[in-house]
Amino acid sequence: MNYKDLADLIFPDSKEISYYEEKYPKRDLPEGAMVLRVAPSPTGNVHIGTIYQALIDKIAAKRSNGVFYVRIEDTDQKREVEGGIAQIIRSMKDFDVLPDEGMTTENEWEGNYGPYKQSLRKEIYQAYAKYMIEQGKAYPCFCSQEELDEIREKQTAAKIRPGYYGVWAKYRTLPVEEAAEKIKNGEKYIIRFKSPGREDRKIKHKDVIKGNVEFPENDQDIVIIKADGLPTYHFAHIVDDHLMGTTHVTRGDEWLSSVPLHLQLFQEIGFKAPKYAHTPTLLKNDNGNKRKISKRKDAEAATSYYLEEGIPAQSVKEYLLNIANSSFENWRRANPDKDIEEFDFQLNKMSVSGALFDMVKLLDVSKIVISRMTAEEVYEKSKEWASKYNEELNKILENKEYALKVFGIERGNKKPRKDIAKWSDVLENIEYMYDEVFESKEHKYEYQVINDKESVNQILDLYIEKYYDDNDDKQQWFDKIKELAGKMGYATEVKEFKANPDKYKAHVGDVSTVLRIALTDRTNTPDMYEIMKILGRDRIAKRFAMAKIK
Ligand code: GLU
Repeated sequence: MNYKDLADLIFPDSKEISYYEEKYPKRDLPEGAMVLRVAPSPTGNVHIGTIYQALIDKIAAKRSNGVFYVRIEDTDQKREVEGGIAQIIRSMKDFDVLPDEGMTTENEWEGNYGPYKQSLRKEIYQAYAKYMIEQGKAYPCFCSQEELDEIREKQTAAKIRPGYYGVWAKYRTLPVEEAAEKIKNGEKYIIRFKSPGREDRKIKHKDVIKGNVEFPENDQDIVIIKADGLPTYHFAHIVDDHLMGTTHVTRGDEWLSSVPLHLQLFQEIGFKAPKYAHTPTLLKNDNGNKRKISKRKDAEAATSYYLEEGIPAQSVKEYLLNIANSSFENWRRANPDKDIEEFDFQLNKMSVSGALFDMVKLLDVSKIVISRMTAEEVYEKSKEWASKYNEELNKILENKEYALKVFGIERGNKKPRKDIAKWSDVLENIEYMYDEVFESKEHKYEYQVINDKESVNQILDLYIEKYYDDNDDKQQWFDKIKELAGKMGYATEVKEFKANPDKYKAHVGDVSTVLRIALTDRTNTPDMYEIMKILGRDRIAKRFAMAKIK
């Protein structure tokens, strides 16, 4: 009896690996093309880190005329959540980072290297595990949980490194005949890798992002096929990334310490290893301490948060690229209209340590992103958001023609308004342009410099009776406010006011403030001329009547 016989006994129906090597030939891609993947597990609530990963992979693939694919890693079936795959696909669609290849539904896929879901690839892994057993590089292990616990206890007591390795690897040296005997007797087993490594030797690895790293060699005989017949992550990713032609494994840096094992597995099975690029973890500042953004603790860790808050996918992506490559910010400033996929993203320019994810900065980026949108886009997107999340906004946006005027205020010019960071800001930003909403609210009208009853009421009366005209252009409109200021004895120029502070009680700007507060009950609004143009004489008069000091 030899290794081959043992392998046949364990996996009698598995195909030769040559079958799969032919079925999934090397990809025919141009020189330098990168093949990258995200490999999420369907554990529910998609993490924003998955979108981050997908975004950089997608851009890197596109820039090199390569391929970006998604592979579902569902070999840990205990952690799986129902509908988890649909959630992943949905999130990738929402953020517009859909892959070139991957699962499209629970059981269907696009691309020639599928299935792109590990639980559908069971026989492939088994074929490769069989191949390893044939070579004497993997073996069945019959340890029960009690035996494993016992080994660990002895190791702990003797203060030595825990694990299944070297002399502790009890079944590593079991003669094949005995192993076959146990299998025939129906004893339970799993398949382990026979590691050739030694802990006292070092391996050097050049990570695309982290640079040169050195680790002790792996010497653990890790499990490659579990009792349920499915592979472990370590083994599955070796087989998959080989067959799917991955050139660069991008994954979170929590995997960095597994590199010695993974390179060893590639070496032993005889495949060329891909390059590894361990991406910095997304961190958040939690009261002065930086820590990993976690799905358990942080709402913003889940992609659903951005949809619910109405933070545009585009904003999130731009912000993530800022984090990914610090040169993105300058590039964006120089190329405000280009598609982000044109940015020359470089994996090796990502920061080595963690990347701080700052919601305040994200919202600042979002304000710029939204400021570049047309009124039509702002309308469509806020309406879409409102139809799901805000009935009041949804209702007032029914009149599209009017809404386009409102969203058009200070938009499409050189310095567009930057007051909306997310669709959930919109209602509060525009509500004063809607009489039914404005009139339903209590108003304080906190007049500022000019605040006595007589002056305020006089300004409002005079303005609507003598100065306001629907047909004025902006210059005429402004000249008239000056005229009114002069008429009431205020300075018509701020400069003049500053030069002679004792001569005047107030200036033209203070008159404008009275008008602004009377119109909107706010001290800050976008361009008042445009607001008045939209409201028109009758509505202005009505607002003023409400705003007079009683
Ligand atoms: N399935 C692994 C995870 O959920 C992916 C690691 C990898 O990309 O290789 O973190």
